[in-house]
Amino acid sequence: MTFDYALEAMNGVGGPNGSISAGIASAIVMPLSIGAHAELWLTVGYELFWWLHLLILFSFLIYVPQSKHFHLITAPINLWLKRPEEETGKLKMINLEDEEAESFGVGAIEQFERKQLLDLYACVECGRCTNVCPASHTGKLLSPMHLISKLRDHLTEKGAAITSTNPWVPSLAAPGSLPFHRMAEEGVQQAEGAFDEPAALQRFPQGMQGTMAKQQERWLRNIPDEQHPSAQSIDLIGNVITEEELWACTTCRNCEDQCPVGNEHVDKIVDMRRYLVLTQGQMPVDGQRALQNIERQGNPWGISRNDRFKWAAEWTKETGITVPTVKERPDFEVLLFVGAMGSYDMRTQHVTKALIRLFHAADVAFAVLGNEERSSGDTARRMGNEFLFQQMCTENIATFHKYGVRRIVTACPHTYHTLKKEYPDFGLDSEVQVYHHTEWLYQLWQAGRIRFVHPVHESVAWHDSCYLARYNGIIDVPRELLRAVPELTVLELERSGANAMCCGAGGGQMWMEETSGTRVNVARVEQALQVQPSVIGSACPYCLTMMEDGVKAKERSDVRSADIAELLVKSVCGI
Ligand code: SF4
Ligand code: SF4
Repeated sequence: MTFDYALEAMNGVGGPNGSISAGIASAIVMPLSIGAHAELWLTVGYELFWWLHLLILFSFLIYVPQSKHFHLITAPINLWLKRPEEETGKLKMINLEDEEAESFGVGAIEQFERKQLLDLYACVECGRCTNVCPASHTGKLLSPMHLISKLRDHLTEKGAAITSTNPWVPSLAAPGSLPFHRMAEEGVQQAEGAFDEPAALQRFPQGMQGTMAKQQERWLRNIPDEQHPSAQSIDLIGNVITEEELWACTTCRNCEDQCPVGNEHVDKIVDMRRYLVLTQGQMPVDGQRALQNIERQGNPWGISRNDRFKWAAEWTKETGITVPTVKERPDFEVLLFVGAMGSYDMRTQHVTKALIRLFHAADVAFAVLGNEERSSGDTARRMGNEFLFQQMCTENIATFHKYGVRRIVTACPHTYHTLKKEYPDFGLDSEVQVYHHTEWLYQLWQAGRIRFVHPVHESVAWHDSCYLARYNGIIDVPRELLRAVPELTVLELERSGANAMCCGAGGGQMWMEETSGTRVNVARVEQALQVQPSVIGSACPYCLTMMEDGVKAKERSDVRSADIAELLVKSVCGI
């Protein structure tokens, strides 16, 4: 353009005289414009730079798709294809009756859906996901950013091997996009001595540095064939992504929520878990035990399914408070889905009882399923056992339809999410309304059916449940309820609302031992203790348990853990 201006000026054609560009152009070409051959020099310069400009442009068109800068093209498309808000966190169903299916879940990179593969190339490697991940934060091997970048590099390399095209670009030009094999090969030369995990954890007890150090070591060492590695001989699960990473995820979605390009990590992790569980029959022993118990008795402890409703009989005898079943009260207004925790876990039974007291105070015509209730199946689904989930789900739906259920209330955000967003895919009538107990209590309060009259002298550090706040956007409702209670103070944690840190129980972690790093629930309790509460409040049976265990681990007998229903019943009923 510079030469263009100069030539035009010399030929008296005109050009943008007086403009900044013209001024710069004049300064650059001034030395070439002097002398007898000025026009020749300018013509040659014009041709030379015109072609150079075109060459650079086309080089970028080739380079960008093969480099880490590919996200410049893919990220906007990925954001455009992002799932709508109402489908947030919903897992896709798999057709288990497909007789032609050779496997279920994802056991090879090409088995991911196209949108899932697009995610990999949209990643800008900003690290926001790893920065908020509770697994990374407590020194586990899982790092969502590395999960995405390892999958991407493996896809690039395997794709190149299958199609016989070479996507290689000099590492100097694309330092962040070293192919998986090259990284592995270089790792053989670089790695010295065994990775000292306890020492790394001592150095980095919290935060993501410990994970990053571990990731780097494991990634560099995980080589299937050190002499002649081939992209096709690498197993997706085992070589690229380890089982340890897959089972460390709490499915909290904090990574997805923070991702600027709309990447989804959880469905990929669950798809790989599905492959392990449904195709290979592999999972951690304690998780396997919990699922077997759910399969046999409908609860993770393996207590008899006939004892599911036992808590109510004993309580009614003790207090005279009735808990009608759907058979006893066929004209019920709302079904209380008690869940396995609310039925069998002695601590969570107190939450169920507090909720029932509130229902009685508001004169709600509720009923329960009693021994006909099954596990919602959330645990089985997040742990990859889609078969068991679908079995529980269809049995529950048949029972709902049999008794003409129109409204369901549950105190468990995991059950809430599954019933509300995932059951309709399996035939739950779209007119059935599902409420979390905070939503239902809020409606009762707004309608004047419950009133907060008794003061509750507590400072409550509010811990948001992932499946309530992040999955379903229920953030203000519990806070408004608590703020309406006389003398009760709500304390906000540094990480709260949609960015609240997970308690560590989701995705089946409730039923599995944390074998590496520090405990997620203890890390979260430490955050809560910073605001000096008398109570750590939550609205989820898993969070309640995890917070209670964390408080015990910190030996803080002056702080306790409570569900919102337990706090509200004090104000409504004075007990
Ligand atoms: S869902 Fe939670 S635990 Fe799993 S990778 Fe994302 S941030 Fe980490
Ligand atoms: S937040 Fe998204 S873009 Fe950033 S590293 Fe994680 S997956 Fe990649």
